[in-house]
Amino acid sequence: MSHRPTIAVVGSGPIGSAYARLLLEGLPDARVVMFEAGPRLTDIPGESVRNIVDPDAKARAREMSQGPQAGEFRESLGIPAGTVVEGMFTARQGTHLFDFGGAGSAHAQAFPAAAGSTNVGGQGAHWTCAIPRPAFSEKVDFIADDEWEDLIVEAEHLLHKQSAAFADSAVGRGIRSLLAEEFSGELPEGYGPSTLPVAGDPQPDGTMRWAGVDAVLGPLIEPGNPLAERFELRDLSLVRRIERDADHVTGVTVEDLRTKQTAFVPADLVVVAADAFRSPQLLWASGIRPAALGHYLTEHPVVISTVALDGERMGRHATEDELDAELARRSANAADPVAAVNRIPFSEPDHPFALQVMYSETTPFPMDPGHPLANNRWGYVNMGYGMRKFPRYEDAVTFDDDELDYRGFPNMTIRYELTDRELAEIEAATERLRRAGTALGTFVAEPRLLPNGSSLHYQGTMRMGETDDGTSVADPWSRVWGVDGLVVGGNALIPTPTTVNPTLMSLAIAVRGARKAVEELSAGTAASVTA
Ligand code: FAD
Repeated sequence: MSHRPTIAVVGSGPIGSAYARLLLEGLPDARVVMFEAGPRLTDIPGESVRNIVDPDAKARAREMSQGPQAGEFRESLGIPAGTVVEGMFTARQGTHLFDFGGAGSAHAQAFPAAAGSTNVGGQGAHWTCAIPRPAFSEKVDFIADDEWEDLIVEAEHLLHKQSAAFADSAVGRGIRSLLAEEFSGELPEGYGPSTLPVAGDPQPDGTMRWAGVDAVLGPLIEPGNPLAERFELRDLSLVRRIERDADHVTGVTVEDLRTKQTAFVPADLVVVAADAFRSPQLLWASGIRPAALGHYLTEHPVVISTVALDGERMGRHATEDELDAELARRSANAADPVAAVNRIPFSEPDHPFALQVMYSETTPFPMDPGHPLANNRWGYVNMGYGMRKFPRYEDAVTFDDDELDYRGFPNMTIRYELTDRELAEIEAATERLRRAGTALGTFVAEPRLLPNGSSLHYQGTMRMGETDDGTSVADPWSRVWGVDGLVVGGNALIPTPTTVNPTLMSLAIAVRGARKAVEELSAGTAASVTA
């Protein structure tokens, strides 16, 4: 009798979802069970919360994603209340801090804004959907360019990429023109101001339906689709341990958070995509402890600001009539304040930073109505530079077997420091942000460096490497060195210093991992058929 492979996927974010889809598409007999510690938020599983129109429903969906800090929801699950320390950093809506200050909180004073989302769709239900491609030294040097192009194209397809979102926005065009004037001659051909590729589907009325993991899961959540019959998504199901027989993974132990019952679920392959902190924590808790696990933590230091667009300067590139038309279109979609997204991408050698410019009619903070630039007719841009952090062993999340966190896992401590090299790049990018802001209008929030962890782009803690030399956790196909049947996924695999928003890159790496897994499991199936 043939063996029908079972794959357990831990985490329902974009990466776990990509594995589920590609494995089911590639393996006609396989079954995928996806475990997600958080709750389902929307009727369509994993849909972007940004698409929810009703403000109360949107706020509720965000609260439900905020794990240990989410008031009522937390209490309903019987998780003890943690005290959020006064004056602490607050997490972005839909996310929760790992260092929340209460019992079982992580220790992350050096990386205080470290946060995650706990819900179906993971952070992919809350993300901004920016999906530029990595370039120059951001790319993984042991994956050949031809193959990389193919992986990226597949990843873009899974995310419903739009390269020219809001390209018809006259204000967006005006912003690009002013930035091009300011930086002309300083940037390589093809790396000047441009629209930022995003994940979503433009609607006939000019708005966007932002992509959550519903886009990635695709046929798996389509009623009546044969692939959906082989896919099971279990929410409120916390994977406590990856089980092994010697060096071979046999399945996972899962706690149903509704009933508190724990069960073993056998699997031929386990894919762990539970974010860059909780994935290495799960490996550690399961006794899988490669030397590099949790180390080489990087993110993107971020400097942000808000600028009121200057009517006279914008008026050189867009007419008042065009502005009126844009405002009319915008008023039809009050639920989503973002009206155009532009950027100046990373390039080498002179612009090793990424600028993101989001045009919006309102500021992200309440402005004093008496401020001369409150209710600015041309609106505002929220813009920021992302910079590089170079991987170092000592920047790390470590786990303590003797102190458990609020979920009962070995508690995390994050150690992290910016070096002189990084501080110099931050200074250079901040200077460019001042120039960009001054070219566009007047700062209503001056450039400021956000606390460590604010990017939400955490990388390196399960980095991939070409050889098993102790500086990586996974091989070039995302398989954990020395453990059969265990694949890891997510931003944690990115081994390079980058500035690019990481999800597209991580998805491309996952496509490579999934193709290899299909190949191996097909061979395994064939072997057992013969046997
Ligand atoms: P996640 O999406 O983090 O999903 C991991 C899931 O695993 C979570 O749902 C978690 O609950 C679950 N989990 C953890 N432990 C367990 C366990 N033991 N058992 C079961 N489940 C578990 N990236 C970009 O590229 N572009 C952007 O514009 C962008 N904007 C962002 C804006 C915001 C507000 C946020 C929050 C994030 C943004 N990101 C952006 C980051 C992006 O969302 C992440 O890169 C992406 O979601 C990572 O996908 P993932 O599948 O690896 O992990």
